[in-house]
Amino acid sequence: MNMIEIVLARNLFETQEFLNSPYVAKFCATMRRVWLTNAVLPPGHFGSYFECTSRRSGVYANPYIHDLYILHELLHIHEFRQSGYSPAWSWLDWALYINTIEFEVAIMTDCMIYFIIPGLREKTFSHEIWVDEYLGLLGKPIQYITARIREERFKAYNNPDPRNILAQQIRAYAEQNMKWCQIWAKPVGYGPYAEKPAFRVVEEHRPRIAFLQHHIRWLADVSEPKSGTPFVGLDGIPFARQAEKFQKVFEENKKWFGNEVLLA
Ligand SMILES: [Zn+2]
Repeated sequence: MNMIEIVLARNLFETQEFLNSPYVAKFCATMRRVWLTNAVLPPGHFGSYFECTSRRSGVYANPYIHDLYILHELLHIHEFRQSGYSPAWSWLDWALYINTIEFEVAIMTDCMIYFIIPGLREKTFSHEIWVDEYLGLLGKPIQYITARIREERFKAYNNPDPRNILAQQIRAYAEQNMKWCQIWAKPVGYGPYAEKPAFRVVEEHRPRIAFLQHHIRWLADVSEPKSGTPFVGLDGIPFARQAEKFQKVFEENKKWFGNEVLLA
């Protein structure tokens, strides 16, 4: 049965490496509780943006990749909770804010985590990943490594090596993120916020997101009824128009820049 529940952030991790990591423990202490759903959201639909994170237990064959996913979503939620959003923000202000968060979260979960949890890299992806080229920096001061990786990542965003699919992937993700921001500028399309840009509906709700009944009522307001994936007490997919539009972008990107080709 599909439902929404509140869980302790720490309880979401499955592997001892993440559970025993002082970094993860310290971070989870600041997070406390998160909203979770076991409803199947459309591929790429970013439920954590509106605190309706997908439960992914059993989705990944590799529990370390599951924990990377959880850490990525939790870091996002943590950053969103600090949001300084003001209705005076333009869409451009908001898109810069969102893309900055994505950049920093990816620096942590795609790169720095391998320096923070020793031995993790051998346990995650069997194919090469972008950060592999920089793992030789291990042993240098963490501030130096972070600065270097951030600089190299920015280079890949702006000027990816045309010969290297791993650099091209980083660039493709940046483009995908920008398309996501454009899709969230569009109105919700139905319900009480039909005419309002979807990102403003989320940001204006954010100060009240922690209140259980209020959040559930709001999720119902932003959900479009659809058979097959009802929430308990709700009926449908939150921000269904955004979900539908982004799913196409997500799947197209995956087709050309997903990891499958690296396993050939
Ligand atoms: Zn992200």
